[in-house]
Amino acid sequence: MAKSRGLVAVNVEECKGCKLCVEACPVNVLHLSESFNTHGYSPAEYEGEGCTGCGVCYYACPEPGAITVFKNWQEAQQAYICQTSNKPSQLTLVDPIQGIAECEACGQQVILSNFRALSFAE
Ligand code: SF4
Ligand code: SF4
Repeated sequence: MAKSRGLVAVNVEECKGCKLCVEACPVNVLHLSESFNTHGYSPAEYEGEGCTGCGVCYYACPEPGAITVFKNWQEAQQAYICQTSNKPSQLTLVDPIQGIAECEACGQQVILSNFRALSFAE
């Protein structure tokens, strides 16, 4: 298994289950889920480890917002800005498969596929 330098988070409600990302991933860390989203599709799901952050899945995906790639997850989690206090914080990954982390400052869960609503220090 490749080193988990990156992290991938799938927004299951935006995913159409086309499998393009699964086939494109060079290290085979994506598969289709056995469960369905509210549209009746089996969304892509991360194995939970091994993502290199290469971004190939992001470019393969035809659905805007379905896949988020954190190219350097270690740096990203230490540069997080808490959405509640608007202060520098840190993220701890609590569920790599669902892409859920916890903010150290406010203790709230952060949905990583909601990338556009999150803030990170430069
Ligand atoms: S960023 Fe690269 S290694 Fe990670 S899931 Fe996507 S294609 Fe696979
Ligand atoms: S995340 Fe994108 S590429 Fe992957 S199965 Fe879903 S819609 Fe297709």
